[in-house]
Amino acid sequence: MVADPDPAAPGYVQVALNLPLRREFTYAVPPGWRAVPGNRVRVTFHGRKLGGIVTATAATTDLPPAKVRPIELVLDGDTALPPALLELARRMAATYGCSLGEALDATLPAVAKRRGERLVPHLEVKAPLDLARQAVFELEDKHQERSRVLRTVLEFGGPMPLFDVRARTNTSDSPWRTLCKHGLLRKVMIAEELEELVPAIEEAALRHQLNEHQQRAVDTVATMVTAGKHRTFLLHGVTGSGKTEVYLRVLEQVRARGKSAIVLVPEISLTPQTVGRFASRFPDVAVLHSGLTDAARGRQWQRLLQGKARIAVGARSALFAPVQDLGLIVIDEEHESSFKQDSTPRYHAREMAIVRGEIENAVVVLGSATPTLESIGKARRGIYELLTLPQRAGAGRLPKIVVQDLRAEPKESRRAGVVLSRTLLVMMQERLSAKDQVLLFLNRRGYSPVLLCPSCGEAVKCESCSVSMTWHNRRGRLVCHWCCREKRRPETCATCQSPGMHELGVGTERLEQAVKERFPQAIVARMDADTMAERGAHERVLSAFRKRHIDVLIGTQMIAKGLDFPDVTLVGVVSADTGLFVPDYRAAERTFQLLHQVAGRAGRGEKAGTVVIQTFCPDNYAVAAAANNDYDSFVQQELGFRKLTGYPPFARLLRVLAEARSETEAQGLLQKAVEPLRGLPDLEVLGPAPAVVAKVKDHWRWHMLVKCFQPASFQRAMAAIGTVEDLGTRTCRITLDVDPSSLM
Ligand code: ADP
Ligand code: ZN
Ligand code: ZN
Repeated sequence: MVADPDPAAPGYVQVALNLPLRREFTYAVPPGWRAVPGNRVRVTFHGRKLGGIVTATAATTDLPPAKVRPIELVLDGDTALPPALLELARRMAATYGCSLGEALDATLPAVAKRRGERLVPHLEVKAPLDLARQAVFELEDKHQERSRVLRTVLEFGGPMPLFDVRARTNTSDSPWRTLCKHGLLRKVMIAEELEELVPAIEEAALRHQLNEHQQRAVDTVATMVTAGKHRTFLLHGVTGSGKTEVYLRVLEQVRARGKSAIVLVPEISLTPQTVGRFASRFPDVAVLHSGLTDAARGRQWQRLLQGKARIAVGARSALFAPVQDLGLIVIDEEHESSFKQDSTPRYHAREMAIVRGEIENAVVVLGSATPTLESIGKARRGIYELLTLPQRAGAGRLPKIVVQDLRAEPKESRRAGVVLSRTLLVMMQERLSAKDQVLLFLNRRGYSPVLLCPSCGEAVKCESCSVSMTWHNRRGRLVCHWCCREKRRPETCATCQSPGMHELGVGTERLEQAVKERFPQAIVARMDADTMAERGAHERVLSAFRKRHIDVLIGTQMIAKGLDFPDVTLVGVVSADTGLFVPDYRAAERTFQLLHQVAGRAGRGEKAGTVVIQTFCPDNYAVAAAANNDYDSFVQQELGFRKLTGYPPFARLLRVLAEARSETEAQGLLQKAVEPLRGLPDLEVLGPAPAVVAKVKDHWRWHMLVKCFQPASFQRAMAAIGTVEDLGTRTCRITLDVDPSSLM
């Protein structure tokens, strides 16, 4: 490696490009220029100008010099990606089967990729509002996507980033362009504004006297940090046991030793409250979150790179924060599936944190009240060191949990299709009279998930996907939750022409209506993807709830995690069963985690809390264990099942998904891909078979699942499958997913 090539003798560099090509390319360094590994450069590749990262330098090349093109630009040459991050990207590419360029792209903030003043395209309503609303209505039948786009911008209530419009409506560029042409929308370029996440001052965390369990955890971790050795700890602490206080104390030690730290929290928990807890103790916190503009993110990145900030707090991608002298990585709520990225590179931040810890001799702490089976499995095998916080810290006590068997409920408790058990109703009445607050949890949005013909039993399906459409009453539309397609409610059944379609099942919208009918005095709010479409809605509702302007908050998993409201004394789980029968080996684990986390929202203050879990399956081991606050017995049972069926932690999974308009093509491609896997030792292939959701957006989906029982068999399987670009074609998309978080 030539760190500073002689200006007289032009050197060569290897450049990784953000393309799915598993090799680097040689470029020449013009005389007098300087390029080192980790530098961002601009090059020409097959006539296109691309950004890339220098991965190595050399004085000479084996290629004919005339064929080697020069690099065109070195971007911010003084701030190269640190070598440890280059190495991390290499390991990431090897583990997840992506190219080094794709892996490197994930480690860089957007601003470092593009330069200069950034103007971001937004869409805003140009026509008078009533005219625009009228247009939404008129376009609905013939130009559904246009109608959807216009409605989304209207509902947002201000200039909406074009990127978000497209993502939310699942549309291409053509609908919004036409709307602009017709004078309904207008594209505006808005300069990026600074969007710092201001820490909430009231959260200035009290520096509590640690209890003995916390103290032991802090001491154990701090000893390792001081020793400067890599080690992974699993901090298993019940909800409210003071895990954050443990992180804060260890961070003090890290800083006292002049080292840096990274704290990862789930995106949804990255609120002013959470940030406030860290920022109030440490002046040099850099916050990295998705709401940051590229410019702001770039500034935080520079602060970290220059050592001006030594603690990075953020969601998944903060793992790549370029901190100096890393001592500690904390992953709070390690069980959260949002730590797995669901686009290339499909990395899991927990696994990559451990790799980064190895590379930089840093300590990794995984915290959770409900550790994943993978993590607890590793802790039991001594790969991680287990630390336990068995009780709530401070005033809070674990809530009392009541399981309400819905099979025994009389007919009267079912009104308008919504089941609110007598127990839950009585307690809601009681809590509301006492002016306490109530959380109702239901993990399903919309009014009713299925619209069914009572005569022939056919449900209304999406024309593009093989799923039922969800009825949204307020909007008056059936919506496909997979492709966003909408349609009007049919008067009669499409199959047998019988009239009177029946709303089957309950979503949050229907629940909200039922609660308002039963408790007309109560102020009820709903928090789900539908009500949160408006700008700033999330923060508004939470702040209203905090100020006690809301009595009953209904929500999907958006309200399940992390909320800490001392006046919530009752949590109702309207249906514990929604996720129980999903065809995924993790269905029980997810149900347990969710129930446990939701239950943890009650009784966080001085007042005692109660949780009512409504279920048709009270004997299910996941439901029963959650009701008894019994993580260990759940793990015991579940590990038994996993061992029997050969799923993680007893195997590493690799999923290959093929999507094409022609089902035969998707199927054929996988059948070819599976061939080299046949006969390999220590692995098992399930499929190829149609995916659970067999069609999405008119693309047929086939998949196969490879269970690798040994690290070596995982390596062999990855090698045998080959690269995604070898497999895929112009008409069939291939996705290679290591440790998949979804099997649908
Ligand atoms: P967790 O992250 O484990 O859910 P938190 O860190 O949010 O728990 O702590 C729950 C509450 O207990 C917080 O209000 C926190 O300030 C308080 N707390 C933490 N440690 C102590 C302690 N040693 N004594 C008293 N209160 C504590
Ligand atoms: Zn019918
Ligand atoms: Zn669809």
